[in-house]
Amino acid sequence: MVEAIHPGASAPFARIAVFDFDGTVSLIRAGWGGIMLSMMLEVLAALDTGESPEDLRRAVEPFIWRLTGKDTLYQMIALAEQVTLRGGTPLDPRDYKQQFLLRLFAVSGPRVQQLRDRGCPPDQYLVPGTRALLEDLRARGLRLYLASGTDDTHLHEEAALLDITRYFDGGVYGAIPDPGAFSKRILIERILRLPGVRPYHLIGFGDGPVEIEELKRAGALAVGLATDEPECRDTSPWKRRNLIEVGADYIIPNYLCRQVLLPMLFANHEPI
Ligand SMILES: [Mg+2]
Repeated sequence: MVEAIHPGASAPFARIAVFDFDGTVSLIRAGWGGIMLSMMLEVLAALDTGESPEDLRRAVEPFIWRLTGKDTLYQMIALAEQVTLRGGTPLDPRDYKQQFLLRLFAVSGPRVQQLRDRGCPPDQYLVPGTRALLEDLRARGLRLYLASGTDDTHLHEEAALLDITRYFDGGVYGAIPDPGAFSKRILIERILRLPGVRPYHLIGFGDGPVEIEELKRAGALAVGLATDEPECRDTSPWKRRNLIEVGADYIIPNYLCRQVLLPMLFANHEPI
């Protein structure tokens, strides 16, 4: 189930791999998109503009997607703009973010607690095949980085509960209070400034547009995870279409295909 969007795209000299967290390796926050959408629809519907739920959905869905992978605050800034556009007085985007997190934690909190209590194996909340892929990449000598738009403290706890922190020898990086001080772009730029590192040393994995765009902008190889959460058995047609649009080289529904995928990623097409 590997779809080569750019057949032959490979990184035989890869030394570093960057992973997004939610929807790319973790399923702890599966369902966040629906929760965010319904909250935004409620906020806009309360303004009584006469727009249909379908109109409002069309107003918010594109920016929810476009900003997926950045600090959640940016989606809330966009919501506040939509409120202003309709003549309303928006809350501070940080307050919208708090409201969203409260609703999200109602869903993700019990999953985190289940992991804390060891009530389930950590792999229950991993995209299928994640651990074997991370182990394979480490065995090939790659240095791994985890980067997320989820708040840094939650990211660290959740990565630890999923027992994956140990694979990320490059570090685990989440959103910090100053949204200008960290982003996936900043991390990728920092990696590319490391001594001897070139764009063709870098591979990235993500289910959102931000990381795929940043990887392609940097000249790296990008694998799009069209994960249909939480099962992640089949390719999500919606994520697939949007990930292709931002330049993904490969599309996969999960990592169970790694024995097919990895030889493609590391294929050396250059004459020896
Ligand atoms: Mg994601």
